[in-house]
This record gives sequence, C-alpha cells and structure tokens, in this order.
Amino acid sequence: MTAKIISGTEVARQIREEILTEVKALEKMYNKTPGLVTILVGENPASVSYVTGKQKTAKELGFHSIQDNQPMDISEEDLLNLIEKYNNDDSINGILVQLPLPKHINETKVLYAINPDKDVDAFHPVNVGRLVIGEGVFLPCTPAGIQELLVRGGVETSGAHVVVVGRSNIVGKPIANIMLQKDKGANSTVTVVHTGTKDIAKYTRMADILIVAAGRPNYITADMVKEGAAVIDVGVNRIGTTPEGKAKLAGDVDFENVKEKAGIITPVPGGVGPMTITMLMKNTLAAFKLSVNK
Ligand code: NAP
Repeated sequence: MTAKIISGTEVARQIREEILTEVKALEKMYNKTPGLVTILVGENPASVSYVTGKQKTAKELGFHSIQDNQPMDISEEDLLNLIEKYNNDDSINGILVQLPLPKHINETKVLYAINPDKDVDAFHPVNVGRLVIGEGVFLPCTPAGIQELLVRGGVETSGAHVVVVGRSNIVGKPIANIMLQKDKGANSTVTVVHTGTKDIAKYTRMADILIVAAGRPNYITADMVKEGAAVIDVGVNRIGTTPEGKAKLAGDVDFENVKEKAGIITPVPGGVGPMTITMLMKNTLAAFKLSVNK
C-alpha cells in the first residue's frame, strides 16, 4: 500500500480562503476587521522570520495587523505595560508575544498577562483549562492544525485509537486533550508515549492514528506503524544544508518507508507546518467574533 499524502499547504490554502470570505462579510457588517498584534523583542533571526510570516498572512487576509518591535533590553515592566495597553485596545483581538524572550524577562509572567480572550496562541492557563474541560474558545495552533488535517483528510477519528508520541505543552498534551473530547473530529481513545514509556513500538503499532511530535529525525520507522494507519508527522528537524544554502529538514517519521505502509501520511515540509499560522488567523477571527458578539 502507498499512503495518500495530505498536503498541509493545500488544506491551509482552503482554510485561508474561507477566512478571507468571512472577514469580508464581517467587514460589511461591522466596518472593521480582526486585529492582530505580534510583539517581537530583539532581533533573533528565526523569530523575525516567524513574525514576518504571521504578519504577511494577516495582511493577506485583510486583518488590521500591527508588528510591534521592541528592543532586546526592554524591561519586564515595560513589556507588561505594553501588553496591558493592547489588552485595553478594542481594535486588537489577538495578542501574540513571539518566544523566546530575553533571559531577564519571565516568559510565564508575560504570557499570563495577556487577556485570555485575546490569547490567540492559547497558551494561557485559562485557555488550557477551557480545552481540557471541553469548552475551548481557542485551540493551540499546531494541535488545532493537526485536527483539521485529519478531518479534511477524511480520517475517521471517532472510536479510533490515537497514539501521540511526545507530551510537550505546545503539541503532545494539547493534541491528546483535543482528540479525547466527545466532539466531531475527535471522540478517540488516546494513548500518550514519551521517554518514560517502555517499549514505545508496542503502542505505536496499535495506533489507527499516529501523531508524532518528538523532535527526533526519522525516529518512527515502518516496523513501528500499523498497516493502513494515518500518520501525522509534526517534527521539524534541521539535518543539514541544501546545496543552495537552505536548511535541510526532516520530520520525525521515516517518510519514504512509512508511506509504503501507512494509509495516510503528512510530509515534512508541507504537512503540519503550513497549518500553524493559518490556525493562528482562525483564532484571531474567533476572538474578533467573540468581541463583536459581547
Ligand atoms: P519538545 O518540547 O522537545 O517535546 C518533545 C517530546 O517528545 C517530549 O515529551 C519528549 O519526552 C518526547 N520524546 C523525545 N524523544 C523521544 C523518544 N525517543 N521517544 C519517545 N518520546 C520522545 O518538542 P515539541 O515542542 O513538542 O516539538 C516536537 C517536534 O515538533 C519538534 O521537531 C518541533 O520542531 C516540531 N514542531 C513543529 C511545529 C509546526 O508548526 N510544524 C510546531 C511545534 C513543534 P519527555 O517529555 O519524556 O522528554
């Protein structure tokens, strides 16, 4: 069997079109569009690139978007005051602070200062709690993107055994919580494995849906996968440089061999990656709707 490849690039394009249509309709009704501010402290090249990508997408979707660049030596107090300013700004629905922050700033304190109703990254404990009890307003972007890929890829999740490799707060734990909700696109039986698990392959082989977020290049080999399983590869690992000087990327799944056994698989790059920014936009749109319906 050769797996059907789900293109995150294509699914993300479809969702962006849907968002754009909705934004245009909302603009007619309310004479304003969703507002997103991305706060960047310092000039870390990777962070600059992420923030630029987010701003570019926000503009393409007709959002009111602000990129707020702050110097590396901004004090924690000034950064907290800046967040408070955006918390109180009615034209802003989503506040995103690009991580990592410089060492003299307490990241947790900063993330907790964001109004949960504007926390479009969904890292605030209020939003984590809402997700766990099944009342999530925003879902964290990468896990939400994984769920969309499954649903739009036609994968039956209800009653499926989902095995998640990794238990980080940004991928493993939230996707496990999303998939176990009694909801459409979820209602699965969930197992989470990590470095403390004995005989990981025993569990991965039982998966109808295998979601891998370990950060280990080509870690999941064909013998660890059940015939016909849906395999979602979240991993993004830099394994060298291309002759053109670009970063060479590998997922956590040995794609070439696993695709001969799986039923459905996502590539790296072009799988989960393109979904993350798109889901950030979806969250900002949701925050906008929340604010106009108040
Ligand atoms: P992380 O914080 O480093 O967490 C990795 C998790 O995997 C940990 O829970 C760790 O277990 C577990 N793990 C590591 N090696 C393992 C092994 N050999 N067997 C079983 N479990 C193992 O990483 P993350 O932030 O979740 O990211 C994971 C990967 O996804 C990375 O490659 C990252 O670049 C990528 N990522 C991609 C996107 C995207 O948009 N495409 C977004 C986020 C992350 P312990 O808890 O026991 O240490």
